[in-house]
Amino acid sequence: MNIFVAGMMMETNSFSAIPCTRDSFVNAMYYRPEALGPEPEAAAYEQFGYRTFLRLAREKGYGAYASLHAFAEPAAPCRQEDYESLRDEIIDDLRSAMPVDMVFLMLHGAQMAQGYDDCEGDIIERVRAIVGPDIFIGVELDLHGNVTTRMAEASNALVACLLYPHTDFDERGEQLFEIGERFARGEIRTHNHIQRVPMMGLYYTTLPRMAAVNDAVLVAERREGIHSVSLMHGFAWADHPDVGAAVIVVAEPDRDDVPELARHLGRQFFAARDETCDLRRPIDDILDEIAASGEPGPFVIADVADNAGGGAGADSTFILQRLIERGVGDAALAMIWDPIAVDFAYRAGLGNRLNLRLGGKTGPFAGPPVDGDATVIALADAIEQEDPAGGLMFGIGRAALLRIDGVLVVVNSVRQQVYDPVCFTGLGIDLSALRVVVVKSTQHFYEYFGPLATKTFYCETPGSLTLDFDPARYRRLQRPIWPIDADAAPE
Ligand SMILES: [Zn+2]
Repeated sequence: MNIFVAGMMMETNSFSAIPCTRDSFVNAMYYRPEALGPEPEAAAYEQFGYRTFLRLAREKGYGAYASLHAFAEPAAPCRQEDYESLRDEIIDDLRSAMPVDMVFLMLHGAQMAQGYDDCEGDIIERVRAIVGPDIFIGVELDLHGNVTTRMAEASNALVACLLYPHTDFDERGEQLFEIGERFARGEIRTHNHIQRVPMMGLYYTTLPRMAAVNDAVLVAERREGIHSVSLMHGFAWADHPDVGAAVIVVAEPDRDDVPELARHLGRQFFAARDETCDLRRPIDDILDEIAASGEPGPFVIADVADNAGGGAGADSTFILQRLIERGVGDAALAMIWDPIAVDFAYRAGLGNRLNLRLGGKTGPFAGPPVDGDATVIALADAIEQEDPAGGLMFGIGRAALLRIDGVLVVVNSVRQQVYDPVCFTGLGIDLSALRVVVVKSTQHFYEYFGPLATKTFYCETPGSLTLDFDPARYRRLQRPIWPIDADAAPE
């Protein structure tokens, strides 16, 4: 048996001010084996996204062809010719790897490019055109994808991660691999059934109601003839008709209980829709609670609406401004993406002061810049942080720790959310000595910061990823959809 693996992942924010080009992938994650062949080079077995498929293929003695795996930090739709060149690398590799018995793709599910609303559907259809109707195409997705009929019809099995933070990609990959093997051996057949759930939002599976919906998914997966069930949370900061949540059931094609199962899970999922947005509180509310608390810190505040991992600029100043205005001492914030401020800090030098205009650059969602007297406390240019979803290491670029009006602020040159405490500790900050720690991240910070926090808060601001959706920004949504339309309801 021969398998072919490839991947491309980019969560696309239609409203983002940050351009996406081929370099956005090359500079973030672009892995390409030296040569295509049935014995992938050692580095391929380390590659997030398809390492699970390669490991299993090796254990079973199958041949494996590893093609491109590319990832870019979320941003605006990719420049058309750049997306096409990356896609065609995968397609050309597949052509030279043929014949293959199974194809495994690691895709995001919410990738757009100029001229393409549905990059995943485009990639899968092109793969299908090469392998023909009978070869298994399995696709592993991020649960934040906006799943489409094209994706479902062109592939044999769509399986998404179930957890947010996404710490289960490897387990879900194993499940997909097993479905592929059984399909290739002729033991099972598959059909992707999609049930749309008309809602836009974020749903943390660490919360009790969402965890219960995931438990129901695991129970459903044990039914005879049901091969996999996924909840697609959708990605709400995109504007096309497939935006929204969905249930995917991969099952034997002739089972007539599947539509009702999917509708039932969709209604349960819909019932938990407000659990996460209820957590979001204004900054003053949070700071009041911390001020009144007799407990020691650190209290962790997530700046959820300015997450680079959702296409935000990571340079909003709403929280920093309030920390300064309220004179909150013992506070540190990371990371404001501001390459000019970083450059100024490096040129000013360690221990020196500068008049700095910081942040507020990428658009109205970033708020106004903060002008202040900054002292350069530390500089570091080799910090790498670990993304708990894939165990990947990402360099944060040149970073500087500044003290601005009493608040410690980490500024850096590579736009990225905060996953890992090293974004602070790498610059000499002792988190346990602080009262308030602010991280720009929606939820992926939680894996490493949750355990060290006295309490975690999710702060709502007018940033890019606000849950206060403005219907005027959208032109192509399928309506009704919650929360824009109060009468939206699942089938
Ligand atoms: Zn995601």
